[in-house]
Order: sequence, then C-alpha cells, then structure tokens
Amino acid sequence: MDLIVALAIVIGTMGGLATWGAVTLASPYVLIWAIFIAWASFYHSGGKMAGMKASIMAHIWGIIMAVVALIALTLFGVSAVNAGICVGVTVLIMILGAKVGLLSAIPAQVYGYAATAGLFLLGGAAYGEGTGGIIQVGVAVAVSMIIGGIFGYISEQIVGSLVNMGKAKYHGGCAHVTVSSNAEPIDNHECHCNVCKNVTGQLTTHVAFFKYEDLKCSNEGNLNRVPFNADNPDGPLELCLCKDCGAPIMLDDKQKRIRVAVPNVMGYDDAAFPAATYHAFYEASKGYKRPDDGRPVYEGLRPEFTWPRGA
Ligand SMILES: [Zn+2]
Ligand SMILES: [Zn+2]
Repeated sequence: MDLIVALAIVIGTMGGLATWGAVTLASPYVLIWAIFIAWASFYHSGGKMAGMKASIMAHIWGIIMAVVALIALTLFGVSAVNAGICVGVTVLIMILGAKVGLLSAIPAQVYGYAATAGLFLLGGAAYGEGTGGIIQVGVAVAVSMIIGGIFGYISEQIVGSLVNMGKAKYHGGCAHVTVSSNAEPIDNHECHCNVCKNVTGQLTTHVAFFKYEDLKCSNEGNLNRVPFNADNPDGPLELCLCKDCGAPIMLDDKQKRIRVAVPNVMGYDDAAFPAATYHAFYEASKGYKRPDDGRPVYEGLRPEFTWPRGA
C-alpha cells in the first residue's frame, strides 16, 4: 500500500477511536487535542522508538518549564512585564536543555510548553487554584502527550506493516528501480575489505549475497553499471546505480552466480534485515582491533562458503 494512503487510513481510524475514547472517558487528564499534537510531534521527531523517547522527553521538559513560568508569574503578580520576563527566562532555560541529548527535540519542547500555557489560560480554573492547580494542568498535558507519543509509535508500526503488505520479504532500491527476494541470503557478513570501504565510506559494510536468480530487479534497463572494484575493472562484480537518481541498487555478478545487497545503503529495511553472521576479509594489518563481538572472523569469506554455479 502507498505510504500516504496507509497513514491516512491508520491515523484517521486511530484518531477517531481515540477521540471517541477520550470524550467517553471525559477525564481532565486525557486531552485529545494534546494527544494529537504529541502524535504529530512523534513523526517529525523521526519516529520509531528513538523518536518516541525524544519527543516525549522534550514535551515533559517543556511542560515543566511552562509550569515554572506560570507559578512564578502568579507569585510575582500578573502583569505584562512579569509575563514577558517569566516566559523569556523559562524559554531560554528550556532551549538550553537541548544540550542534554535526551531533551534535544526543541520543537517538541515548545509544543509541551505552549500546550500547558494554553490549557492554563483557557481552562486552568477546572484544575484548581494556585500552584496546585498549575501543577495539575502540567500533569494533564504530560499524561496526554505521553499517550500521543505512544499512539504515534503504534500507528507507525501498523502503517509499516500495511506498506509492506504483499511485498517480498527482502526489498530495496529507490523510487525507480526495486530489488526483491523472498529467499534468504546465502551469505551474510560484515565486510572489512578495502573495496567496500572505498565504495560505501564505512569502516565495515554489512553485505548479503543472494543467489543470482533469487534477487529480482524490477527494471534492469534503468541501471548504470560500473566496476565495483575500480582497481580491477575486469572483475566480476558491477555496482548498479539508478539512472534517474544515482542510488546504488545492487552489485551484480557478470558470471550470474550471486547478486549482492548492502542493506543500509540500498534501500532495504536495515533494522529488519538479519544481522551479519561473521566478519569477512579482516586482516591484522588493517590497524584496528580484531572484532570481538563473538562472531567468527575470517581473512576471506567463511571457509565453508561455496559459490553457486553461474547461470
Ligand atoms: Zn567487501
Ligand atoms: Zn532511482
């Protein structure tokens, strides 16, 4: 399914259900509008578990700073000048909080801050008088925004499975050319070779070999082929790049034995791709420490690997 259609269906449905639930519950601590703000903030904080944490932590920080501002303002006396000072100082501290990694999502801080101030100004009376009431306002916004962040995460998971529905188990590529396989890779390693290093710019590269006939390409005519190893232009492997956007799509084997995926640069869902099972082409002369993550380390491919017969 198309991503935008999936987002529309999932967030529309979940948003409707959440609204029905919040109205039915009628709790002053479950505010559907604050849930929606946090839900959106989840997506533009990058999504996934990391985006959820970053967004929620920043909301809470913003909420705390707004509560401090409102308490200070009621203590000093409400006037335009005092309001300006209280907001100015707390916003300054709030944004400096971004120096702490956990609180670095500045827009999400502001959503928490603004939502707290808004609820206090427009509906604060329902939460009680004085400092206690202001804290209750902050708690209500915090509870709602945490729910919103969690809803964001859940909706993203559902959208992800809708988008991938009907697709092959492994699929990569760009908007113009796709590669896919339902078969498992026949070899899956962390490559320490210099060619991979030069091409990807990564110290080591996660590389998966598929049998040639297993990895299907949607539009081979749209690929520019360049030697994978610039120092050995007659070698068997060719790096295939999309003619439209230049994205690397796969390594193809002139002898038609294998096709190679580099999941994190060739458009695969890298988080879902099985981890490499061993280290290949490591040499002590590389000048960095031999990997000690428990996976076998070889100076070439794993000894038991046998190349499939060419097609
Ligand atoms: Zn390599
Ligand atoms: Zn492309």
